[in-house]
Amino acid sequence: MSKVRVRFAPSPTGPLHLGGVRTALYDYLFAKSQGGDFVLRIEDTDTARYVEGAEEYIMEALEWCGIIPDESPKHGGKFAPYRQSERREIYDKHLAELLKTDYAYIAFDTPEDLDEIRKEFEQNGEVFAYNYITRNRLKNSLTLSKEQVQKLIDEKVPYVVRFKMPVDRILNLEDIIRGKFSVNTNSLDDKVLVKNDGMPTYHFANIVDDHEMEISHVIRGEEWLPSLGLHYLLYEAMGWERPQFAHLSLILKPEGKGKLSKRDGDKFGFPVFPLNFKDPETGNISKGYREEGYLPDAFINMVALLGWSPANDREILTLEEMVNEFDLHKVHKAGARFSKEKAEWFNQQYLKSKSDDEVLSLLKNTENSALVNSGNEKLLKIIPLMKERATFAKDIYEDGKFFFEAPSHYEEKAVKKSWNENAVNLMTDLAEKLLDFNFENETLKQEIHDFAESHQVGMGKVMMPLRLCLVGELKGPDVPDIMQILGKEECAARIKNAVNNIP
Ligand code: GLU
Repeated sequence: MSKVRVRFAPSPTGPLHLGGVRTALYDYLFAKSQGGDFVLRIEDTDTARYVEGAEEYIMEALEWCGIIPDESPKHGGKFAPYRQSERREIYDKHLAELLKTDYAYIAFDTPEDLDEIRKEFEQNGEVFAYNYITRNRLKNSLTLSKEQVQKLIDEKVPYVVRFKMPVDRILNLEDIIRGKFSVNTNSLDDKVLVKNDGMPTYHFANIVDDHEMEISHVIRGEEWLPSLGLHYLLYEAMGWERPQFAHLSLILKPEGKGKLSKRDGDKFGFPVFPLNFKDPETGNISKGYREEGYLPDAFINMVALLGWSPANDREILTLEEMVNEFDLHKVHKAGARFSKEKAEWFNQQYLKSKSDDEVLSLLKNTENSALVNSGNEKLLKIIPLMKERATFAKDIYEDGKFFFEAPSHYEEKAVKKSWNENAVNLMTDLAEKLLDFNFENETLKQEIHDFAESHQVGMGKVMMPLRLCLVGELKGPDVPDIMQILGKEECAARIKNAVNNIP
């Protein structure tokens, strides 16, 4: 068997959607699971839809995800160039071959001509298609004489090249995920293969490149399933062996119906892109998982399980484990419902499993000056106390702000619950006594215990108002743990502050 080679072939028309990331990931997982190559090819022949920066975005996103191509515009490779706009000569050569067959013809109809016909059809309640019926009365090399065609070409009248869809043929197609199905060619139209500017359309460039680049498996989104018949016939027309195909189902909205869109993300507060993307035209920024605080390994794990279940329903897998387990036949036929909660759960699991030092470098790598300016020693004490409860590394700061700054206000409910005259007296005394406490681990708890006893009150009567003084609410890790990190003076100052400021 020849080498497995799988390509991811995005068009640089905007940022990669979650669905695109998943396609790239499955392409990668399958290629690597078979000891094959993973190729990134940029399909940029549609100049009208080209978006500035999109190609760089795609490469950066893949890199962040850890899905590194063996061959790409950046990495180079045996089949370079990997950008379709730089492969024009190759398409021209193959187009000349195709035109010699009976599978392609030249059409001179202008967009205006076609619009008019479309309207006529609409008036009769019909939908126009350039196909085996209509092509016989349109302006093309099937209806014009050879001389007329040559004359128009010589006069530089613009033309496109269309595929001549065979009549009445049943195509038996096969998809690794969906199995076998058939299509009658009469239901397919004569797609444009080369536009009037000489640029190939997606269909033609894609087939040529998959052949030239020796792609063995095409794994892509299900939106391309309707093109499979045409692609089969293009391979047949060119006399080439075709790759195997697998079409991935949609990623669905959280409620389960319809394709997940950016609007869903905006509505429910989750990104649908891996990285932030700034629209070069509007300047609008779409949120990315990276900037939201997701860890790349958690993100990629979450994406992988949108439509594939590893053995024994395992959920947490590294990229390497995914490669070892991946089986294209186990990819689901049905769409996969996206869940924000599940995405967060993955991040939480990965964060929990990071070492304190790893979390430290995540915190240090932010733009948060409180974190950047904090000593590592202090942060390394805070991290183990907060890590378990955090979904994102940033939560360690958000939920543990009191480690970095004294409370500026005291939560009303907490005040009601824990603050009274008795508490004020206790805290006033504690602010003094505390300066003589031994702040060592276990001893501190004992000191507080003894203090409570000396006032003939239970621990709770001391701990609750004390927590309020230090944190501003009744949350957070154990009070002695907080005290040790804040230090004696800061604790005393916070208690005094609370006594003076809580009404
Ligand atoms: N350029 C196409 C896209 O962006 C590629 C489809 C394919 O993989 O064949 O969806």
